[in-house]
Amino acid sequence: MRGAVLAAAAMLAAAAHAANPASWTQDQPPFRIHGDTYYVGSQGLASILVVSPEGDVLIDGDLPESASKIATSVRALGFRLEDVKLILNSHVHFDHAGGIAELQRITGARVLASEPSAAVLRAGGVGRGDPQEGLIPGIAPTAEVEVVKDGETVRVGPIELTAHVTAGHTPGGTTWTWKSCEKARCVNVVYADSLTPIAARGYLFSDSAHRATLAGFARSYETLRTLPCDLLITPHPEVSDFWGRIARRVPGDADALVDPTACVRLAASAHEQLERRLDAERAGRVR
Ligand SMILES: [Zn+2]
Repeated sequence: MRGAVLAAAAMLAAAAHAANPASWTQDQPPFRIHGDTYYVGSQGLASILVVSPEGDVLIDGDLPESASKIATSVRALGFRLEDVKLILNSHVHFDHAGGIAELQRITGARVLASEPSAAVLRAGGVGRGDPQEGLIPGIAPTAEVEVVKDGETVRVGPIELTAHVTAGHTPGGTTWTWKSCEKARCVNVVYADSLTPIAARGYLFSDSAHRATLAGFARSYETLRTLPCDLLITPHPEVSDFWGRIARRVPGDADALVDPTACVRLAASAHEQLERRLDAERAGRVR
């Protein structure tokens, strides 16, 4: 009986794993995005390193199996893991936060997150009230997590990153902004959290019980529309045509990555996606 249960659990785990896009674990050599901002993720899942002489910041730990690859990428760039002083997160799903517990162990860094996200990081699993509860695997608990407030700026040496809670996809989803400079020229970088209305079977965004989720989405679109935004990066790189922009970049010229309309366009397409989802729910095409 126990063997059968274990076999079933293994099959479920394998099925969940098989459902992950191959790009999520496809190796990507790390590289400089702009100024002190580097890419240390895989082809399909972003992980961002911001460096300074007084310590570095890592955003997103991706899948559990990504942690060692991210660590390898940080070292391959010539940076030291013990210099990572802070780990931040877009949202607490297994594909962006799955490696954070392990990365904290490896680096000894502080982990900071919005209040709803911090609760999930500490407890592990999937957050109560998360639209995808029951649909996705949970995350391992992170030993120590501190809370950052909406609008708060966190610092490591000269690096200043500001947290903007952009709820909807998860209750505590957070967009991070900072300035990246190359010589005298600085750009506003926006690491915009996912805004896709994805839910487990039975969760309807149009349900009156989920008004707070809809209000969160509405505020998130407004936040994204109004943020100073020159260089947009998204946890799923393809959502902001990141690889297309990288391919168009002339080596040494960061301008191919810069698009001050990118955040406004992302907010509009995310809003459209939600409207389509709500139409489908009201028409009974999603249950
Ligand atoms: Zn997600």
